[in-house]
Amino acid sequence: MARIVMKFGGTSVSNTDRIKNVARLVKAEVDLGNEVAVVVSAMSGTTDQLAAWSNAVAQLQRSEEYDIVVSSGEQITVGLLALALQNLGLKARSWLAWQIPIYTDCVHGNARIISIDSSIILKEIVQGQIAVVAGFQGIGPNKRITTLGRGGSDTSAVALAASLQADRCDIYTDVEGVYTTDPHLIAKARKIDFIAYEEMLELASHGAKVLHSRAVIMAALYALPVQVLSSLDKKPGTLIVKEGGLVEKQVVTSIAYSTNEAKVTLIGLTDCPGVAAAIFESLAKAAINVDMIVQNVSQNGDFTDLTFTVNSSNLNLACKMLNVLKKDLGYVDIISNAMVCKISVVGVGMRSQPGVAKIMFHTLAKCGINIQLITTSEIRISVLISSKYLDLALQALHTAYGLDTDG
Ligand code: ADP
Ligand code: ASP
Ligand code: MG
Repeated sequence: MARIVMKFGGTSVSNTDRIKNVARLVKAEVDLGNEVAVVVSAMSGTTDQLAAWSNAVAQLQRSEEYDIVVSSGEQITVGLLALALQNLGLKARSWLAWQIPIYTDCVHGNARIISIDSSIILKEIVQGQIAVVAGFQGIGPNKRITTLGRGGSDTSAVALAASLQADRCDIYTDVEGVYTTDPHLIAKARKIDFIAYEEMLELASHGAKVLHSRAVIMAALYALPVQVLSSLDKKPGTLIVKEGGLVEKQVVTSIAYSTNEAKVTLIGLTDCPGVAAAIFESLAKAAINVDMIVQNVSQNGDFTDLTFTVNSSNLNLACKMLNVLKKDLGYVDIISNAMVCKISVVGVGMRSQPGVAKIMFHTLAKCGINIQLITTSEIRISVLISSKYLDLALQALHTAYGLDTDG
């Protein structure tokens, strides 16, 4: 007997037939004698609609009331799934995050889980009750509903699994597992059988939305076995494992992309200590994450250009913050460009194999694609390019690193 947390994403619960299908998958685990908790997302498209309604009334994305609105999609699906399970003759009960409770910090719209008191649901699970838990939501220190950021129900599932000391967390989605790149964009993408936590984290943090990056961090922290698989067919999925458990260490395992990027360049900045600190402190104060950063060396030592990227949803706010600093910093101009995308190649084998960057730069050059920014980690190389080249670059790199399926 095992204790399992099963998580179903938006496409898996997108209508009542799909919810009945999920109920059958849950029943199959229960019939094997397992203890089961289920975490669900809202029906696909629902959270987008709720966010659009909220934004149409007021653009206050990080507010308490925004979270009240966007968290409501999960209330519908937990209730429907609990009903579907009861209809199959199983004992099941729905749980909203505050009823468990799942405690978070107070950063509305992007809250972090602080702790989960799973003692009550654990008692019920042990007695054969299926706990159907709303993903994406939590309760803040002021007892207001919070949400964990878009795609956050993966994090709810992994956190709950850690808290319940589950043997496994199965993330059911609309593709068969983690692929060599987004299979909805590149037809020749291949499913990966095993991937290291570190690789999955780099991919998730750089745009591969198949898993929420904080879910991967937590899974690695608790060494929790996580499996990504399809709710729509019965094929084996992808297992996320420790790097040491990988038989084959790929030079490039998978390629992620992100289209939510915007580039900002400050021209003619005074080149003296404290300037970069002032810029990034001001952005941090506005809760704006900065990703790629490049500073050009000034010719005469007096002036320099500084380029960095932010999430495109933060571009206007970032420019506003920098305009406030203009008088103090004395830069000449700000140039911004939201027509850019980031492509990241990831693989633990990069640590020991040279030439990975060369293939990337050669391949993009052959396609006539100009690289605007480059950043690297030990197991990742990212480039920023014009968004009009996304498909071309992804396809060419996928082929160049030998990732295409044979078929
Ligand atoms: P869910 O609603 O089940 O949480 P998501 O839409 O959040 O599903 O994530 C699954 C999607 O992630 C897939 O449909 C696919 O388009 C996208 N994706 C991006 N990169 C990858 C990848 N490397 N492997 C698998 N899917 C990927
Ligand atoms: N429903 C939320 C969203 O669409 C959470 C999730 O799907 O993981 O972002
Ligand atoms: Mg998701």
